[in-house]
Amino acid sequence: MRRAANCTLSPCSNPSDGAHTVSLFPHVRFLVSAAQPSQFPSDHGAEVAFAGRSNAGKSSAINAIVQRHGLARVSRTPGRTRLLNFFDIGAERRIVDLPGYGYAAAPEAERRTWAPLIAALRERASLRGLVLIVDSRRGIAAEDENLIAWARERSLPTRIHVLLSKCDKLTRSESTKALRQAQTELEDVATVQLFSSLDKTGVEEAQRVLEAWTQRKNPDDLVEIAGAD
Ligand code: GDP
Repeated sequence: MRRAANCTLSPCSNPSDGAHTVSLFPHVRFLVSAAQPSQFPSDHGAEVAFAGRSNAGKSSAINAIVQRHGLARVSRTPGRTRLLNFFDIGAERRIVDLPGYGYAAAPEAERRTWAPLIAALRERASLRGLVLIVDSRRGIAAEDENLIAWARERSLPTRIHVLLSKCDKLTRSESTKALRQAQTELEDVATVQLFSSLDKTGVEEAQRVLEAWTQRKNPDDLVEIAGAD
């Protein structure tokens, strides 16, 4: 099978990557924690869902990408952890922070709350794609594949980009191996990059993906753009 057009091969070794002096997203703000689809922001503009196992580094990744320390902590406050948290990143663009999954199975009551939320999110015309945060030391798990399937089942064009997080914990050769393995597993399904919120590896690349996906474009063009480059 064909590999996604812009799977990234850059090694996890560029601490200066992402060192912006000017904020790319100066108008970031928390919008709403949605407990039901009726609380979602109106469905226009462009939004990108961020998802990952609990502790994969999703909150840190969102903060690093939008250059707003502590922003995604909102999603972790009591009562909000199982909800869909929407952030406005300016110019009618949003990030949707999905509940972390994995570890103990969610209680049935929680599943009943968020399953319809996730189902409703998928129907939104403004949803452009899914950024999946996967711990680079663990690789892609069954639950990650479920999310990928969720995104692929959409009728609208949907892109998927995987951040192999915490790559500062890997050596250069381990990073390269983890990247190649994820690329092989995902083939033409998703683009993949190495990422570290700690040393900022890959932050610029992830920002470019977010910007490219949320540009105002004819929806037909979206299929043509595999990622940011
Ligand atoms: P979340 O549960 O997916 O939102 O994960 P968090 O962003 O809260 O991160 C979980 C833990 O991993 C925290 O202790 C973070 O400090 C740590 N962490 C997150 N990103 C990185 C990273 O890039 N490198 C390292 N070494 N640790 C990280």
